[in-house]
Amino acid sequence: MEFLRPATWAAALEAKAAMPGAAPIQGGTDMMVEINFDVHRPDALLDLNRVAELTRWTTEEDGRLRVGAGVPYTRLIDELGDRLPGLAQAARTVGSPQIRNRGTVGGNLGAASPAGDSHPPLLAGDAVIEVESAARGVRMIPAAEFYLGVKRSALLPDELIRAFWMSPASGPQYFSKVGTRNAMVIAVCSFAIALHPGERRVGTGIGSAAPTPRRAVAAEEFLAAELDWDARLDPEVLRRFGELASEAASPIDDVRGTAGYRGHAIGVMARRTLTWAWNDLRSGHPGRRAG
Ligand SMILES: Cc1cc2nc3c(=O)[nH]c(=O)nc-3n(C[C@H](O)[C@H](O)[C@H](O)COP(=O)(O)OP(=O)(O)OC[C@H]3O[C@@H](n4cnc5c(N)ncnc54)[C@H](O)[C@@H]3O)c2cc1C
Repeated sequence: MEFLRPATWAAALEAKAAMPGAAPIQGGTDMMVEINFDVHRPDALLDLNRVAELTRWTTEEDGRLRVGAGVPYTRLIDELGDRLPGLAQAARTVGSPQIRNRGTVGGNLGAASPAGDSHPPLLAGDAVIEVESAARGVRMIPAAEFYLGVKRSALLPDELIRAFWMSPASGPQYFSKVGTRNAMVIAVCSFAIALHPGERRVGTGIGSAAPTPRRAVAAEEFLAAELDWDARLDPEVLRRFGELASEAASPIDDVRGTAGYRGHAIGVMARRTLTWAWNDLRSGHPGRRAG
């Protein structure tokens, strides 16, 4: 197996164009498991760790954050936890400290597992994925269009993920994950919520309860129409939101849980996260629980 180590982003794109079968590797926390267990033996590994720009994040002119694909979870939590609380909350549930020190959102996107923990908050927060190829340049892909199937994404063979873009939270955000224990656990299912009070809109993301991570679109539309932002949270609105979120899932039975349980749990997490977020908003402490 060849091991390619480009020092610049341009060289990485050229290497990927010349050898589309080369598998990018950032933290290696997914890739090395696949190689060790012989699940996947790429022709070559394209190590992106020397491309320094992938490990940087910036605030862009339009106010959005542009976070390099190689920023590890630990730094995301420490440096961006105040601005991206939902994603940071999800990052805190990934693996163990060792995995969070190496693992990245870029790698989570590259793997595109329906159970990846960063996907629901990326969906709820309207993230956009910046990908690039030497031949066609940059493409900006909304998270809602990125996930195409089980471990399949919109990324083309000659493209690399460069960064993701996301606005700093404009209201409370939460992530909730059901697992069979408290740490080092792949989600049985998960749910993320982001309140956008300025737009009177709520974003959602469902994890590990469908072939791809996905938004609960009907549930979002229901809240946009029915949620009274100046009143207490109506129990009937909360109940219906949970029901619609549950209906948005299309889970399967597998070793981690049954379809029936997952559908039920998504409804519970949807109601719970909306209640937490709503209480934060009403009490003037956005993201209080996300700390
Ligand atoms: C013990 C353990 C526990 C784990 N727990 C969790 C968990 O709780 N939640 C969770 O979501 N995940 C978990 N994971 C999986 C993994 O840690 C995450 O998916 C992590 O985000 C992968 O990031 P990475 O940088 O290590 O990716 P890598 O392993 O380097 O790459 C992963 C995939 O993305 C591709 N890739 C990487 N960078 C790019 C790029 N710039 N452009 C295009 N493709 C790219 C690779 O080719 C590969 O297919 C766990 C893994 C282990 C080993």
